[in-house]
Amino acid sequence: MNSIPPIFISHGSPMLMLEPGRAGPAWQTLARELPRPRAILAVSAHWNTRTPAVSATAKPETIHDFHGFPPPLYELAYAAPGAPDLAAEVAELVSGITIDRSRGLDHGAWSPLRFMYPAADIPVIQLAVMPYASAEAHYLLGQSLQPLARDGVLILASGGLTHNLGDIVFDAADGEALPHVAEFRDWFAAALARRDLPALLDWHRQAPHAARAHPSPEHLLPLFVALGAAGENAAAKIAFRDSQLGALALDAFVFATASA
Ligand code: ZN
Repeated sequence: MNSIPPIFISHGSPMLMLEPGRAGPAWQTLARELPRPRAILAVSAHWNTRTPAVSATAKPETIHDFHGFPPPLYELAYAAPGAPDLAAEVAELVSGITIDRSRGLDHGAWSPLRFMYPAADIPVIQLAVMPYASAEAHYLLGQSLQPLARDGVLILASGGLTHNLGDIVFDAADGEALPHVAEFRDWFAAALARRDLPALLDWHRQAPHAARAHPSPEHLLPLFVALGAAGENAAAKIAFRDSQLGALALDAFVFATASA
Protein backbone atom coordinates (compact mmCIF):
# COMPACT_ATOMS: atom_id res chain seq x y z
CA MET A 1 0.00 0.00 0.00
CA ASN A 2 0.96 3.62 -0.40
CA SER A 3 2.61 5.60 2.29
CA ILE A 4 0.29 8.43 3.30
CA PRO A 5 1.57 11.59 4.97
CA PRO A 6 -0.12 12.28 8.31
CA ILE A 7 -1.96 15.58 8.43
CA PHE A 8 -3.13 18.05 11.05
CA ILE A 9 -6.29 20.03 10.45
CA SER A 10 -7.68 22.84 12.58
CA HIS A 11 -11.37 22.03 12.36
CA GLY A 12 -12.59 25.42 13.60
CA SER A 13 -16.18 26.10 14.54
CA PRO A 14 -18.90 23.53 13.71
CA MET A 15 -20.49 26.35 11.68
CA LEU A 16 -17.93 25.63 8.96
CA MET A 17 -20.10 22.67 8.01
CA LEU A 18 -22.89 25.05 7.00
CA GLU A 19 -20.69 27.94 5.91
CA PRO A 20 -17.45 26.35 4.68
CA GLY A 21 -15.69 29.62 3.84
CA ARG A 22 -12.22 28.92 2.50
CA ALA A 23 -11.61 25.96 4.82
CA GLY A 24 -14.06 23.45 3.31
CA PRO A 25 -12.69 23.74 -0.25
CA ALA A 26 -9.11 23.70 1.10
CA TRP A 27 -9.75 20.43 2.96
CA GLN A 28 -11.26 18.98 -0.21
CA THR A 29 -8.19 19.96 -2.22
CA LEU A 30 -5.90 18.54 0.45
CA ALA A 31 -7.67 15.15 0.28
CA ARG A 32 -7.41 15.10 -3.52
CA GLU A 33 -3.66 15.63 -3.30
CA LEU A 34 -3.17 12.65 -0.97
CA PRO A 35 -3.04 9.01 -2.09
CA ARG A 36 -6.43 7.41 -1.45
CA PRO A 37 -6.25 5.74 2.00
CA ARG A 38 -7.51 2.24 2.77
CA ALA A 39 -8.76 3.56 6.12
CA ILE A 40 -8.60 6.66 8.29
CA LEU A 41 -7.44 6.98 11.88
CA ALA A 42 -8.90 10.25 13.14
CA VAL A 43 -7.16 11.66 16.20
CA SER A 44 -9.80 13.97 17.59
CA ALA A 45 -9.53 16.79 20.12
CA HIS A 46 -13.12 15.95 21.06
CA TRP A 47 -12.46 12.51 22.47
CA ASN A 48 -10.58 12.85 25.74
CA THR A 49 -9.36 9.97 27.88
CA ARG A 50 -6.75 9.42 30.59
CA THR A 51 -5.01 6.55 28.81
CA PRO A 52 -4.80 5.65 25.09
CA ALA A 53 -8.07 4.57 23.51
CA VAL A 54 -9.15 3.60 20.01
CA SER A 55 -12.65 3.06 18.65
CA ALA A 56 -13.59 -0.20 16.98
CA THR A 57 -17.23 0.42 16.12
CA ALA A 58 -18.46 -1.37 12.99
CA LYS A 59 -21.05 1.30 12.17
CA PRO A 60 -20.14 4.48 14.04
CA GLU A 61 -22.97 6.91 14.64
CA THR A 62 -22.50 10.62 13.94
CA ILE A 63 -22.12 12.39 17.29
CA HIS A 64 -23.40 15.99 17.37
CA ASP A 65 -21.15 17.04 20.22
CA PHE A 66 -21.82 20.78 20.16
CA HIS A 67 -24.51 22.98 21.64
CA GLY A 68 -26.49 26.04 20.67
CA PHE A 69 -25.99 25.84 16.91
CA PRO A 70 -28.68 26.08 14.17
CA PRO A 71 -30.90 22.98 13.80
CA PRO A 72 -29.63 22.00 10.30
CA LEU A 73 -26.25 21.24 11.85
CA TYR A 74 -27.83 18.50 13.95
CA GLU A 75 -29.30 16.85 10.86
CA LEU A 76 -25.94 16.31 9.19
CA ALA A 77 -24.53 12.82 9.29
CA TYR A 78 -21.38 11.10 8.11
CA ALA A 79 -22.16 7.45 7.50
CA ALA A 80 -18.69 6.06 6.89
CA PRO A 81 -18.16 2.48 8.04
CA GLY A 82 -15.91 1.75 10.99
CA ALA A 83 -12.82 -0.43 10.82
CA PRO A 84 -12.59 -2.90 13.72
CA ASP A 85 -9.71 -4.61 11.90
CA LEU A 86 -7.71 -1.38 11.85
CA ALA A 87 -8.42 -0.95 15.57
CA ALA A 88 -6.90 -4.40 16.07
CA GLU A 89 -3.80 -3.27 14.15
CA VAL A 90 -3.56 -0.21 16.40
CA ALA A 91 -3.88 -2.43 19.47
CA GLU A 92 -0.92 -4.48 18.28
CA LEU A 93 1.19 -1.34 17.98
CA VAL A 94 0.08 0.35 21.21
CA SER A 95 0.20 -2.09 24.08
CA GLY A 96 -2.49 -1.69 26.70
CA ILE A 97 -4.68 0.58 24.59
CA THR A 98 -8.38 0.53 25.43
CA ILE A 99 -10.63 -0.64 22.60
CA ASP A 100 -14.01 1.10 22.62
CA ARG A 101 -16.56 -0.83 20.58
CA SER A 102 -19.43 1.67 20.77
CA ARG A 103 -17.83 5.09 20.27
CA GLY A 104 -19.19 6.98 17.24
CA LEU A 105 -17.59 9.78 15.22
CA ASP A 106 -17.43 13.20 16.87
CA HIS A 107 -17.31 16.43 14.91
CA GLY A 108 -13.53 16.63 15.23
CA ALA A 109 -13.52 13.70 12.83
CA TRP A 110 -16.59 14.13 10.67
CA SER A 111 -16.49 17.90 10.16
CA PRO A 112 -13.33 17.81 8.01
CA LEU A 113 -14.13 14.36 6.60
CA ARG A 114 -17.42 15.56 5.10
CA PHE A 115 -15.38 17.88 2.90
CA MET A 116 -12.42 15.59 2.34
CA TYR A 117 -14.27 12.40 1.49
CA PRO A 118 -17.92 13.36 0.93
CA ALA A 119 -18.85 9.87 -0.29
CA ALA A 120 -18.12 8.55 3.23
CA ASP A 121 -16.85 5.32 1.67
CA ILE A 122 -13.51 5.03 3.49
CA PRO A 123 -13.63 3.29 6.90
CA VAL A 124 -12.88 5.52 9.90
CA ILE A 125 -11.90 4.88 13.49
CA GLN A 126 -10.89 7.36 16.16
CA LEU A 127 -7.97 7.70 18.52
CA ALA A 128 -8.48 9.70 21.72
CA VAL A 129 -6.21 12.44 23.05
CA MET A 130 -5.17 12.60 26.69
CA PRO A 131 -5.38 16.15 28.05
CA TYR A 132 -3.44 15.16 31.19
CA ALA A 133 -0.55 13.65 29.23
CA SER A 134 2.35 15.55 27.68
CA ALA A 135 3.00 16.56 24.10
CA GLU A 136 5.86 14.04 24.18
CA ALA A 137 3.50 11.23 25.19
CA HIS A 138 1.38 12.04 22.13
CA TYR A 139 4.47 12.24 19.93
CA LEU A 140 5.54 8.79 21.12
CA LEU A 141 2.03 7.46 20.56
CA GLY A 142 2.27 8.79 17.00
CA GLN A 143 5.67 7.17 16.54
CA SER A 144 4.21 3.79 17.34
CA LEU A 145 1.66 4.32 14.56
CA GLN A 146 4.28 4.88 11.83
CA PRO A 147 3.70 1.41 10.28
CA LEU A 148 0.08 2.37 9.58
CA ALA A 149 1.03 5.61 7.81
CA ARG A 150 3.41 3.58 5.66
CA ASP A 151 0.65 1.13 4.85
CA GLY A 152 -2.24 3.09 3.42
CA VAL A 153 -3.77 4.59 6.57
CA LEU A 154 -4.43 8.31 6.72
CA ILE A 155 -3.64 9.65 10.18
CA LEU A 156 -5.92 12.64 10.37
CA ALA A 157 -5.13 14.71 13.45
CA SER A 158 -7.98 17.13 14.04
CA GLY A 159 -7.82 19.94 16.56
CA GLY A 160 -6.98 23.63 16.39
CA LEU A 161 -3.66 25.48 16.19
CA THR A 162 -5.19 27.98 18.61
CA HIS A 163 -8.37 27.43 20.60
CA ASN A 164 -9.55 29.90 23.20
CA LEU A 165 -13.33 30.19 22.94
CA GLY A 166 -13.28 33.01 25.49
CA ASP A 167 -11.32 35.15 23.03
CA ILE A 168 -13.76 34.73 20.16
CA VAL A 169 -14.60 37.97 18.32
CA PHE A 170 -17.96 37.35 16.71
CA ASP A 171 -17.68 40.09 14.09
CA ALA A 172 -14.08 39.37 13.10
CA ALA A 173 -13.59 38.83 9.38
CA ASP A 174 -12.17 35.54 8.20
CA GLY A 175 -8.39 35.75 8.26
CA GLU A 176 -8.37 38.54 10.85
CA ALA A 177 -6.46 36.90 13.69
CA LEU A 178 -5.96 38.45 17.11
CA PRO A 179 -2.31 39.49 17.68
CA HIS A 180 -1.59 36.70 20.18
CA VAL A 181 -3.07 34.15 17.74
CA ALA A 182 -0.79 35.40 14.96
CA GLU A 183 2.29 35.32 17.21
CA PHE A 184 1.55 31.83 18.48
CA ARG A 185 0.95 30.43 15.00
CA ASP A 186 4.08 32.08 13.60
CA TRP A 187 6.19 30.59 16.39
CA PHE A 188 4.70 27.18 15.78
CA ALA A 189 5.10 27.30 12.01
CA ALA A 190 8.75 28.37 12.39
CA ALA A 191 9.50 25.61 14.91
CA LEU A 192 7.87 23.05 12.61
CA ALA A 193 9.79 24.37 9.61
CA ARG A 194 13.14 23.88 11.36
CA ARG A 195 11.98 20.61 12.95
CA ASP A 196 12.82 21.89 16.40
CA LEU A 197 11.39 18.97 18.31
CA PRO A 198 12.65 20.04 21.77
CA ALA A 199 10.95 23.43 21.35
CA LEU A 200 7.75 21.94 19.92
CA LEU A 201 7.38 19.41 22.73
CA ASP A 202 7.98 22.24 25.23
CA TRP A 203 5.47 24.51 23.49
CA HIS A 204 3.54 25.37 26.65
CA ARG A 205 6.68 27.02 28.09
CA GLN A 206 8.35 28.34 24.94
CA ALA A 207 5.60 29.44 22.56
CA PRO A 208 4.40 33.03 23.02
CA HIS A 209 0.95 33.30 24.61
CA ALA A 210 0.75 29.52 24.97
CA ALA A 211 -1.63 29.58 27.92
CA ARG A 212 -3.90 32.07 26.21
CA ALA A 213 -3.87 30.24 22.87
CA HIS A 214 -4.71 26.96 24.64
CA PRO A 215 -6.38 27.32 28.06
CA SER A 216 -6.51 23.52 27.82
CA PRO A 217 -4.28 21.52 25.47
CA GLU A 218 -6.67 19.03 23.85
CA HIS A 219 -6.94 20.92 20.53
CA LEU A 220 -3.17 21.03 20.04
CA LEU A 221 -2.31 17.50 21.19
CA PRO A 222 -3.49 15.74 18.00
CA LEU A 223 -0.75 17.60 16.12
CA PHE A 224 1.95 15.76 18.08
CA VAL A 225 0.46 12.39 17.15
CA ALA A 226 0.68 13.32 13.46
CA LEU A 227 4.21 14.63 13.94
CA GLY A 228 5.31 11.37 15.58
CA ALA A 229 3.56 9.22 12.98
CA ALA A 230 5.31 11.07 10.17
CA GLY A 231 8.80 9.96 11.20
CA GLU A 232 12.05 11.80 11.76
CA ASN A 233 12.60 12.80 8.14
CA ALA A 234 9.22 14.33 7.47
CA ALA A 235 8.90 18.02 6.71
CA ALA A 236 5.86 20.02 7.73
CA LYS A 237 4.20 21.76 4.80
CA ILE A 238 1.58 24.40 5.45
CA ALA A 239 -1.48 23.13 3.58
CA PHE A 240 -3.84 25.89 4.66
CA ARG A 241 -3.59 29.07 6.69
CA ASP A 242 -6.57 31.09 7.78
CA SER A 243 -8.46 32.05 10.92
CA GLN A 244 -12.03 32.64 11.96
CA LEU A 245 -13.66 34.57 14.79
CA GLY A 246 -10.31 36.20 15.59
CA ALA A 247 -9.30 33.47 18.03
CA LEU A 248 -9.33 30.28 15.98
CA ALA A 249 -6.32 29.66 13.74
CA LEU A 250 -7.38 27.26 10.99
CA ASP A 251 -3.89 26.22 9.95
CA ALA A 252 -3.42 22.77 8.45
CA PHE A 253 -0.15 20.89 7.97
CA VAL A 254 0.92 17.91 5.89
CA PHE A 255 3.87 15.95 7.31
CA ALA A 256 5.44 14.48 4.22
CA THR A 257 8.73 12.67 3.68
CA ALA A 258 10.44 13.07 0.33
CA SER A 259 9.33 9.60 -0.72
CA ALA A 260 5.70 9.98 0.42
ZN1 ZN B 1 -12.97 21.48 18.30
